[in-house]
Amino acid sequence: MHKRKIGFAEFAGICRNHGLKSTQQRFEIYSELIGSTEHPDAESVYTAIRKRMPSLSFDTVYRAMRTFEEKGAISRVSPGLERTRYDANMEPHHHFICGKCGTIKDFYSEEFNRISTPMEIDELGKAEYVHVEVRGLCNKCRKSKLT
Ligand SMILES: [Zn+2]
Ligand SMILES: [Zn+2]
Repeated sequence: MHKRKIGFAEFAGICRNHGLKSTQQRFEIYSELIGSTEHPDAESVYTAIRKRMPSLSFDTVYRAMRTFEEKGAISRVSPGLERTRYDANMEPHHHFICGKCGTIKDFYSEEFNRISTPMEIDELGKAEYVHVEVRGLCNKCRKSKLT
């Protein structure tokens, strides 16, 4: 679900919108992120790119992802997970998180998008959108439990 391929021109546009310089390295890193449905951490992105760009260092990948996040081009998946994971899907969507294997899957729900925030939120700040996190056991883990 939501695997995307992106060309350099489109990437350059995204960078421009977020006040970022578009470089070949950043393009490779962003492509890996947007092409993944796994909500990967920096380590996984690095491992995936290293094969085709052996000159790339982990530090470069890590810093590029932090920069993308700071500029709002990607978002950080909710805290509470052992490693910081990132999401290049900036469309309104929600997450299903498996409590056993840590898989994070996107799902879409018009109904959840429209959830109105309680009055208590006004005392805390201004709500911009609602992101629902559903926790459970993914089908893969459910199956391995049965056998
Ligand atoms: Zn699982
Ligand atoms: Zn997501």
